[in-house]
Amino acid sequence: MRIDKLLANMGYGSRKDVKILLKQGAVRIDDQPVKDAKRQINLETERVTVHGEVVEYKPFVYLMMNKPVGVISATEDKVESTVIDLIDPSYAHYELFPVGRLDKDTTGLLLLTNDGAFNHALMSPRKHVDKVYIAEVDGEMTSDDVRRFAEGVELEDGYTTKPARLELLSKGRRSTIRLTLSEGKYHQVKRMVAAVGKHVERLERVQIGSLELDPTLEPGAYRELTEAEVDLFL
Ligand code: URA
Repeated sequence: MRIDKLLANMGYGSRKDVKILLKQGAVRIDDQPVKDAKRQINLETERVTVHGEVVEYKPFVYLMMNKPVGVISATEDKVESTVIDLIDPSYAHYELFPVGRLDKDTTGLLLLTNDGAFNHALMSPRKHVDKVYIAEVDGEMTSDDVRRFAEGVELEDGYTTKPARLELLSKGRRSTIRLTLSEGKYHQVKRMVAAVGKHVERLERVQIGSLELDPTLEPGAYRELTEAEVDLFL
């Protein structure tokens, strides 16, 4: 990537600002001042400093987002807003993508990364990483539903789900449930609830494996995972 683009992407100002830094001789590659904005740079092999400070080489980024309603879990779309649109442009050069998908109207814990191994560790059916959801349901979820979910329910397409843990958090004509799934079929929570004759009205993912959604993140906000959080999955 060009040095001006890279530094602008990394938050050193606009391309114009970076050009000024270059002109001033503030940018050095392997201790030699560089003035050419078009100079291609590889942070893996070259040491770049700005005003003497090393530009950190970080191959992978891991973000936790509290996904809001109304955006899709994709990297780009001609019509819809995506979760990537919510990320600061200083992350653009990392080419982040969402780890798995949440529906447009589902909120909560969504991870984004550019690390394929991390994505695989979370998404591969063989790794059995549980995903935990809280749902508000129109209709009364019952202890019979708890038993049926534990045994596996047949969805409308004939697929029988793996055993899932259903907890009834509040009962009544509208119920709140907590559902732990060990697999991730398309619209799975909504389809499982539909299979027992009820309807999901609101859905939030609150946990992936032992990683819980940071309660300080407002909808649409995100933060980088700590090393310990990343290590939960790698
Ligand atoms: N199950 C659903 O139905 N929707 C989601 O977004 C996630 C799980």
